Amino acid sequence: MTAIKQLYDLQSVDAELDWRHARLAEISRALGDDIVLKPLKDEVARLKRAAQKTAGDQVNLDTLIGGFEAKIAEANAKLYGGKVKLARELQDLQADIEMIKRQRGEQEDLLLVVLDEVDDAQKAFADASKAFSRREETWLEDQQAMADERVVIEGDIPGLQIDRDARAAGVTAAEMALYDQVRKRHQGKAVALLRGSTCDSCRMSIPNRLALDARSSDKPVRCSNCGLILLVD
Ligand SMILES: [Zn+2]
Repeated sequence: MTAIKQLYDLQSVDAELDWRHARLAEISRALGDDIVLKPLKDEVARLKRAAQKTAGDQVNLDTLIGGFEAKIAEANAKLYGGKVKLARELQDLQADIEMIKRQRGEQEDLLLVVLDEVDDAQKAFADASKAFSRREETWLEDQQAMADERVVIEGDIPGLQIDRDARAAGVTAAEMALYDQVRKRHQGKAVALLRGSTCDSCRMSIPNRLALDARSSDKPVRCSNCGLILLVD
């Protein structure tokens, strides 16, 4: 009985250690892992490229339109410069100017469309950048919180380990071997309370004779259903 109570107490310290070690492993996997940021980061990069492309389209159109302006100015200079005198040549020049103006008009219409696209693309890029910054900020806060949590958990472990070692020293090698063996098979649980004739772990009734043994014997009695060592409550 006393030995089983010692195992039961050892189990509670082991449970404290177990979850801390599990949490530390979880934290060490999560620290520095920025995979959650990747979709937004990729989206920002994509929108940046799109914004750069539309801005490039605008520059090209501006250049093209500028070229038309220069041609028109050049033709106008000829037209009104006084050097071209033949009516036919003057008509041709006039026709050239009209044609260039039409072309310029077409490109200017296109420019209006592209200017809208530039605005939209820049807004989409700015919005996504902001969303990414917010997400990154949350991620950094989470990282910091986990780093802080790790310090606390790591601080708890030495004391718990000393407690554990002291409790482990109080049980025999055979009891410890049984404890380890049962614990390994039952996800960290080795000892269950026996309430009346019910195992507190699996909630099943055990035979009366076994319950009696658990109450009277010094030897560990195990639940006939789940296999845990029973400690009379
Ligand atoms: Zn049981």
